[in-house]
Amino acid sequence: MNRAGYGAQTEKINLAAVKLAKEVAGQQALVAGSVSRTQLVEREGMGALEKARDHIAEQVRLLKDAGVDLLILETFFHLAEMRVALQCAAESGLPTIATMSFRPFITQCTDGHAPAECAKVMADHGAIAVGANCEQEPRRMLPLLREMRAAVNVPIAAQPAAFRTTDDCHCFTRQPAFPDALETIQVSRREFEEFGRLARTEGLGYVGGCCGCNPAYIRALARGLAEKQ
Ligand SMILES: [Zn+2]
Repeated sequence: MNRAGYGAQTEKINLAAVKLAKEVAGQQALVAGSVSRTQLVEREGMGALEKARDHIAEQVRLLKDAGVDLLILETFFHLAEMRVALQCAAESGLPTIATMSFRPFITQCTDGHAPAECAKVMADHGAIAVGANCEQEPRRMLPLLREMRAAVNVPIAAQPAAFRTTDDCHCFTRQPAFPDALETIQVSRREFEEFGRLARTEGLGYVGGCCGCNPAYIRALARGLAEKQ
């Protein structure tokens, strides 16, 4: 927010976002507050973790004060920063879902931890569901979700991207099409419908969509999920 010139409005923007979501959710749905990585670790290294903690704690506090029902910690590249975020979330007392993003390969996160290890650490720090979001389309994300599922007893959460990745590079943000030709690697809504079907058989307890998804994708996902087996 600071870098975009909106730092002074951080509180106002968070409050307005939660207020809008709560109005739409009414009594029908819960409202989650999203908390993501600060980007300080990528820019300044692990020495910036305590500065990151201050930013994350502030975001969690604003979301809690605005009345969210739960938190989703998402799009963390470093497990070390996720751990800090989970500590901030635990202090808030809000139920927390935690998902890492894996790039350039699904085999490990940026600070070198395998999906199973990430899942264990996130569950041990109190996350009520753990998993992955962003970077891969559903088909490519599935193998890493299975690794996580085998490692923990909490539900597995998955919010794939809607962009196709390759065997050489398992993330869409490093494909040549990123960012100005993403339309050329968009996956279809049908793939999200199929993912909805798979979510049941694969035992995924929380599913959604990340970059490239719009409401039509979520509708397709819900249709697949609701189908009788
Ligand atoms: Zn995303």
